Formats: sequence, C-alpha cells, structure tokens
Amino acid sequence: MAFDDMGGKIWYNGQLVDWSQPRVHILSHGLHYGSCVFEGERAYGGKIFKHEEHIERLFFSAKELDIEIPFSQQQIEDACYEALEAEGHLDAYVRPVVWRGSGMMAVSAQNSGVHCAVATWRWGAYFPREELLKGINLDWAKYRRPNPDSAPVHAKAAGLYMICTLSKHEAERNGYADALMLDYRGYVAESTGSNIFFIKDGEIHTPLADCFLNGITRRTVIDLAGARGYPVIERHILPDELPQMQECFLVGTAVEVTPVGQIGEHRFQTGQITTTLMDDYTALVNPVA
Ligand code: PMP
Repeated sequence: MAFDDMGGKIWYNGQLVDWSQPRVHILSHGLHYGSCVFEGERAYGGKIFKHEEHIERLFFSAKELDIEIPFSQQQIEDACYEALEAEGHLDAYVRPVVWRGSGMMAVSAQNSGVHCAVATWRWGAYFPREELLKGINLDWAKYRRPNPDSAPVHAKAAGLYMICTLSKHEAERNGYADALMLDYRGYVAESTGSNIFFIKDGEIHTPLADCFLNGITRRTVIDLAGARGYPVIERHILPDELPQMQECFLVGTAVEVTPVGQIGEHRFQTGQITTTLMDDYTALVNPVA
C-alpha cells in the first residue's frame, strides 16, 4: 500500500488530522531546494527509544539548515506520542519532519514559512534473526560522503540523501542489499542509512564520525560494547584494511544491529561479538514486561 493511502492520523502543524489531509503544495521550498530535515525513531512496546536525543537532533539539524522550528522541543516530543497513541501502535516507526513551505519560491527562503508533521506506522523487526545471522551484502557506493566544508554533514537533512538513494539503487540493481560509502578522503564512512562497525582480533573498529551522521544507535552500541569490556577504536579506516577484519555489522534505528556477510569481494563471519551486541541491543530497546 502506498504511504499516502495508509489511513489513520498524522500530527500536522499542531494538531492531529486525518492521514490524507496534510498537503504539501508543489511550490514548497522544501521540495525544490531541499530545505527539509527529519528524524527516524522506533517505538518498542509503546515507548520511543532515545526519544529526547532524536528530537534534540531534529532541532540541531534544523539549526544547521537555518530553519527555525515554530514549536518547542517539548511540543515536538509530545507530538510524536500523540501521533503514536492516536494510532495505537506499540512497535512502530516514528517520522517527525520539518520543511520550508511555499511563502516564497527562490533560493532565499526568509519568508517561506516552516511546517512540521509527525507520522507513525507499524514496524517490527526488519528480518527474522536466523535470516539476519547470514549477514547482508554490500556493494561499493559510487558517491562519497562530502567534506564538512561542502555540506552540513552532521544534519539529518533530506538533501544529503540524494547520493544515498542513487547509491542504494545501483547496489540493488547489482544484487546487493545496500552500499558502503567512502568519504571525500577515501576512508570507509557508512552505508546509505546506517553506521558501520568491524571486528579485528577481538577489537571493535568504527570510522570516526567526522563527516557523516554520528548515529544514536552507533553511540548506543559503543556504550554497550564498553559495558562488555570490548575495546572500541574510533579511527579512520581504509578500504584496504577490509581483508584484516573478521566481522562486520551495520547499526541504525531501522536496521538495529545487522550483520554484514560481504562487502564487494570481502567476506565476513557473524561471530560472537556481533551476536552479543545484537542481543544486548535487543534487550536494551525492549522494555521489560
Ligand atoms: N547514517 C545515515 C545516513 C542514516 O540515515 C542513519 C539513520 N538515521 C544513520 C546513519 C544511523 O542513525 P541513527 O542510529 O541515529 O538512526
């Protein structure tokens, strides 16, 4: 079913409205010039995981794009629960989005107006665990994460996803689940929608988040690894190092902790550190009954 046909309620500019009601005019700045930021959250058992951190990041992203959100952080936090509870969802995806409107149609957007909405939809695990353990395969992405001098790289901004969609499409056409993006210097960066970790001789290595989204799941997994006493090394990683890595996994709100079995010609095993962190993450996000 198309997303605009799902039915239910959406929080839109301060109130709950029927799913079909919010309309974005074709002359919206957000559509033409990419002035749009958003969040991707998950609710487990009716509780939104790391909700405050996600909404804080939404406001950070908006500020990076010079967008002033016409609501307080608390109001947007509450709006997400209003939208979720109106649908009665327990396990769901939560999508707050902020975009510039149609008050003005030019590169300048001083009077465009700013809109906010929150939509939620039911969403459980991506893959069954047995399927997950096999590991997904990643292609090499055509595009690279840009230099922080060239784009607001730490914002979760719609415009930054253009190169992700293109890279993901090409990977899918080549028979892969996703693509691994390098950064502008040629270091390993992230996938098109999640962060990456490697295991080398019992140590966890992950790229320094100096030109891509420092994901909330990434930081959570680093904490979980620390609690287990696993050494975590954040550093620049070259693609040439991949043959030395034994395990690999992706992390993000949507993919949670997903083992990677293959990147291009390189193969990885789903080993004990990966499965331990998968289980620790599952235990952390699921509220105790
Ligand atoms: N990188 C990109 C490009 C993403 O879209 C996401 C998902 N928001 C992530 C990393 C992971 O971020 P998080 O753990 O905060 O969901």
